[in-house]
Amino acid sequence: MSIRRLPVYLLIDVSESMAGPAIEAVSRGVELLVNELRGNPLALESAYLSIITFAKKAQQVVPLTELLQVNVPKFSVRTGTSLGAALKLLTQCLQREVVRSTPNTKGDYKPLVFLLTDGQPTDDWEPAAEAIRRANNPKVANIYAIGCGPDVDPGVLKQVTDIVLMMNDLTPEQMRKFFVWLSASVQTASTRLQEGAQGQQVAMPDLPEGIEVAPSGSYRRDPTPRQVFLQARCSRSKRPYLMRFARRPYDGRYEAIAGHPLEVVEEGDSDLLPPINTGMLDGCPSCPYCENPIAGMCPCGQLFCTSPDHRGAIICPKCNQQLYAGGPGNFDIKTSAGKRRVRVTKSEEIVINARRAEKLSSIQRSPKQTQWWVRESRHLTP
Ligand SMILES: [Zn+2]
Ligand SMILES: [Zn+2]
Repeated sequence: MSIRRLPVYLLIDVSESMAGPAIEAVSRGVELLVNELRGNPLALESAYLSIITFAKKAQQVVPLTELLQVNVPKFSVRTGTSLGAALKLLTQCLQREVVRSTPNTKGDYKPLVFLLTDGQPTDDWEPAAEAIRRANNPKVANIYAIGCGPDVDPGVLKQVTDIVLMMNDLTPEQMRKFFVWLSASVQTASTRLQEGAQGQQVAMPDLPEGIEVAPSGSYRRDPTPRQVFLQARCSRSKRPYLMRFARRPYDGRYEAIAGHPLEVVEEGDSDLLPPINTGMLDGCPSCPYCENPIAGMCPCGQLFCTSPDHRGAIICPKCNQQLYAGGPGNFDIKTSAGKRRVRVTKSEEIVINARRAEKLSSIQRSPKQTQWWVRESRHLTP
């Protein structure tokens, strides 16, 4: 008799909120998972792994594959969070890849699905969540949703599954603990199932520190995003990057945290989001490629790195027009789709702050002026 398979699906959000150390930790975590499972004879025999990543688009980067054949791909951060597309793709993969039991033959074990996301979808996700709920009643898969980062809305994840875990911290160490737990969970499931456990749900190992079950009941989080992401390009290399800002609890303004390289830019998402005014931003993350400390915005809307010492024309890395430094004062910038669509009420509206940006000494007047803001290092965190 052939061994029944235990299909394991990882759905990994690779949107803005995963930029920087988090996405590297995910890559290392998946490698750790595969290596640990290969070391367990029962898991090696039964567990099959598939990986679906999603940002603006969802993609099955590893089809359901036996552990020894899995090649862990390199994950890269993209823009947008299409949870709906990811769930739709998951449904298709489950239908196509998982062998159902018939009255005469035993099919695969109930798949384990781990959905890792910032829980702030930017697409029309509700019909897909509803569809997967319907398809999963009676249960055909055990779905675990793990909300990552400070801005997760557990309410969104609860529409996908009853089992919602929260991981606030996205440090590499926290990610590693999560993947150790995930590996232990798969090993437990493969052992119990082969021992003949028929329960709807195999008990999972204790959660590691820093990961908790989302509180039950409905509750509303503060709707103001705790992070803001802006897309920019390096004016020297033209390569895209993300500027990350975090909200300060005491005054609600956003403080520059870091610039993260971005491998792919997908246009269009940011049109859905309200712009943010530079008056709400403190400091400016330096360019991760050339370390230019400030940023400017072309009239075409593109942000780019530049230097306060720059003299003469600057070429916009997107539309290639010649620009001159100018446009003092605050201005609106399109935000990237990594954060949730803010439901803007009057009081929450991102107001145009009266604070004026400092003037550059080298301002030249020209019809083609860039707008800019200056890094204020006293506000930067170490
Ligand atoms: Zn640069
Ligand atoms: Zn331009």
